[in-house]
Amino acid sequence: MNYQDFTKNIVEADDIVIFSHVNPDGDTLGSMVALYQIIKNNYKKEPVMVVAGDIPDIYKFLPDISKAVTFDKISKDKVFSLAIAIDIAAKDRMGMGTAIFDRAKVKMNIDHHKTNNGFGDYSLIRPEACSAGEILFDMFEELGLSINKEIADSLYTSIVTDTGGFRFENTTAKTFQIASKLVEYGVHAGEIARYCFESKPKPMVLLQANALMNAEFLENEKIAYTCITIADMAQLHAKEDYTEGIVGALRQIKTTEVAAVLKEVTSQSTKVSLRSKHVDVSKIAAAFNGGGHAFAAGCTIQKPIQIAKDKLIEEIKKYL
Ligand code: AMP
Ligand code: MN
Ligand code: MN
Repeated sequence: MNYQDFTKNIVEADDIVIFSHVNPDGDTLGSMVALYQIIKNNYKKEPVMVVAGDIPDIYKFLPDISKAVTFDKISKDKVFSLAIAIDIAAKDRMGMGTAIFDRAKVKMNIDHHKTNNGFGDYSLIRPEACSAGEILFDMFEELGLSINKEIADSLYTSIVTDTGGFRFENTTAKTFQIASKLVEYGVHAGEIARYCFESKPKPMVLLQANALMNAEFLENEKIAYTCITIADMAQLHAKEDYTEGIVGALRQIKTTEVAAVLKEVTSQSTKVSLRSKHVDVSKIAAAFNGGGHAFAAGCTIQKPIQIAKDKLIEEIKKYL
């Protein structure tokens, strides 16, 4: 897709829907609201924003995020002129919204995951971009669309969260150039960092402490992993997103090459988050029909957590 296709599809659309991914993070939510605002301000159309579940409390500061709806608020046979997937590594990551996306007349896919297969009629996949927000910033600038403080805040949130605060390998000179421009547009970097990194609910930090205390280490401590059960979550009244950040904390340990968090979703289904320093964990995730980036990937294994753990460890060992 070239940038002119973006404009053409928006101009021609009667109605537009934008999808974020399940277990939403700062990139998918920040990019979604930035797109919403750019379309509203420049093309005088108001897209519908769809979230796949609860919005984590820390991202509720994002401008207009309260206007986002869950898929069930959209009538069952609704056909949108244009559907945009943002930061969606694979089509099914839109959750129950996937069916609405599939029905749209024109489907657009804007993403930076290298495992994205280019689903949709128009796709803009740039794996070298640190975040979907970086892709949007380039496009908005190239198209001469005006970026106000609210849009800048949203794009900055995408970038600062997907780069782990400008620390991950995906942080490039370009990332800093864009961040610098966004600060010139009015972003208060300290304020956004406080919202994203220092506004966690107390049970979230306690869950992390608990999960780290229960961590296990294998292969000369190159593998660091922990299992979080439904019971662990219930004990701390934890919401789904409270496990965010635990896998990153396991990677912080000097010896860790591959960090994994296994989370019991049901008695037969386990969600896996993978992080690494050198190993391409997107390949490990792909072995279980997941995907992601080289150093941050995920998958869901349709097995009880203990069996999923054994299968995952076996796969990880192949890459050490
Ligand atoms: P997470 O550990 O859930 O934060 O995910 C890490 C990265 O992998 C993110 O960029 C996700 O978009 C991606 N990812 C997670 N799960 C999947 C999956 N099942 N399929 C494709 N990509 C995934
Ligand atoms: Mn994401
Ligand atoms: Mn992203």
